[in-house]
Amino acid sequence: MKIPKIDIGKCAACGNCEAICPEVFEIGDDDKSHVITGDFSGLESCIEAAVENCPEDAISYEEEEGEEEEK
Ligand code: SF4
Repeated sequence: MKIPKIDIGKCAACGNCEAICPEVFEIGDDDKSHVITGDFSGLESCIEAAVENCPEDAISYEEEEGEEEEK
């Protein structure tokens, strides 16, 4: 499953992602965008549109490699 992730360090809180895909992205109290759901079914095109319209290239949308991250 592809998972959207936000690079908080890059996010400028412009609001584009939230405007395009409010089911997935929300600007938090910290003035950064956050992914607010774990269920992305049916939202693929909306997530991709948000990725394309992020001026800071802060959103990645890639296959998750596994449940647990190795360190
Ligand atoms: S579109 Fe990009 S820069 Fe704008 S709020 Fe979303 S993640 Fe942040």
